[in-house]
Amino acid sequence: MKALIAGAGVGGLTAAIALRARGVEVEVFEAAPESRTSGGGLGIACNATKALTALGIDLPSAGVGRVCERFTLRTARGRLMRELPIRSIATELGSPVVNLRRSDLVTLLRDKAGDTPIHYGAEVVGYGRGDNGVSVTCADGRTATGDLLVGADGIRSAIRASTIGRDPINEYGYVCWIATVAFEHSRLPPGGAAHYWGRGQRFGLIDIGGGHVYWWGTKNVPVERARRWTGTKHDILRCYEGWAREVGEVISRTPEADIVSVPAQDRTFADSWGDGPVTLLGDAAHPMLTSLSQGAGSAIEDGYTLAYHLAHADDVVVGLRRYEDARRERTRWLVSASRRLSRTEQIEHPVAVGLRDLVLRYAPASAVRGQNIAPMRWDPPQDRARQTRKSRADKEITR
Ligand SMILES: Cc1cc2nc3c(=O)[nH]c(=O)nc-3n(C[C@H](O)[C@H](O)[C@H](O)COP(=O)(O)OP(=O)(O)OC[C@H]3O[C@@H](n4cnc5c(N)ncnc54)[C@H](O)[C@@H]3O)c2cc1C
Repeated sequence: MKALIAGAGVGGLTAAIALRARGVEVEVFEAAPESRTSGGGLGIACNATKALTALGIDLPSAGVGRVCERFTLRTARGRLMRELPIRSIATELGSPVVNLRRSDLVTLLRDKAGDTPIHYGAEVVGYGRGDNGVSVTCADGRTATGDLLVGADGIRSAIRASTIGRDPINEYGYVCWIATVAFEHSRLPPGGAAHYWGRGQRFGLIDIGGGHVYWWGTKNVPVERARRWTGTKHDILRCYEGWAREVGEVISRTPEADIVSVPAQDRTFADSWGDGPVTLLGDAAHPMLTSLSQGAGSAIEDGYTLAYHLAHADDVVVGLRRYEDARRERTRWLVSASRRLSRTEQIEHPVAVGLRDLVLRYAPASAVRGQNIAPMRWDPPQDRARQTRKSRADKEITR
């Protein structure tokens, strides 16, 4: 069986590794001229580190990023509002949250993909279906054929447009700035992550190891301005005047050219992601707002689950539909929960902000823990032989 994958981002590369591990031949087409070297950082939550471990990728021992040990929520001025029980959550779920540079994750996945052909500068512009599967055409005229096609080509997916149509992108009227930089601060202990919540504006400062941090900032602005942010570093610094000292310091320390701006966007959840031998994954299938930090995590889950269902079906099309069915409920929930959280986070009215912060400070620990752990509760589907072995072992233990 041969799979064609459009997109060598986190989702496409994970799918390539998972499919190769199941004996499927893979060819990847990536529009960018080379592997990604920029793009800030990512938090890879317990659910996704579990999927990576199942693929033989143990982030902590691979020496990239930093296991998250402490997660604090603070006011804009830096006062502690809440400490989230990140360590006990990781212990309960049996896998860590790892914060890292996006480019380090992409490089690690690309290396793990081994000799899988990955064609850079290969923008897929269309596909055709025939008796023998599916063929793709790239902007430079290159073509390839396979038994199935996976659109892992991000929020503006060309494969999605051809498969389920051109649905509009939803915009939420805020901009996100992201960067990584060498920075250390006493408020950010090793393995620390601190989120600062203001009015219509937030900031995140996250240790990614090696004396470096990943930071992100958000601010409510008109939709058009979020889409085409043309401000300078000085403009960003002005937005954070009066905030905790470390916020201004880390922005000042960052070279202006290293700050990337992204508008807050997602799409209305689509019930169907596939057609015949074609399917979608990651942002191409279910783009979500960043609030739950689960976009890349759910793309990793998708890649793992896709390979699992293809391996367990006698027919490609049946395997793809089973994969989509397996992913629908969870990803629909992640998209809508991200939207709900984003609304609370970006609140601007001072009374509403006061109420939000009060709730955050005094909500029962069990409720806060429950909310934080929910998106991370996911286990990779297990092969039947392993399941049987596990249930036999469980029975032995009970006896
Ligand atoms: C500010 C911000 C912070 C975030 N933080 C987190 C976080 O902490 N944790 C988390 O889990 N997620 C986070 N996310 C979400 C995460 O970045 C995405 O969900 C994730 O990158 C999706 O992976 P993907 O592989 O589906 O798509 P992408 O990463 O977008 O990759 C798609 C790839 O396809 C390529 N491509 C596009 N079109 C074509 C084409 N026609 N042909 C061939 N190739 C093509 C692109 O060049 C790209 O390499 C964040 C997102 C943002 C914007």
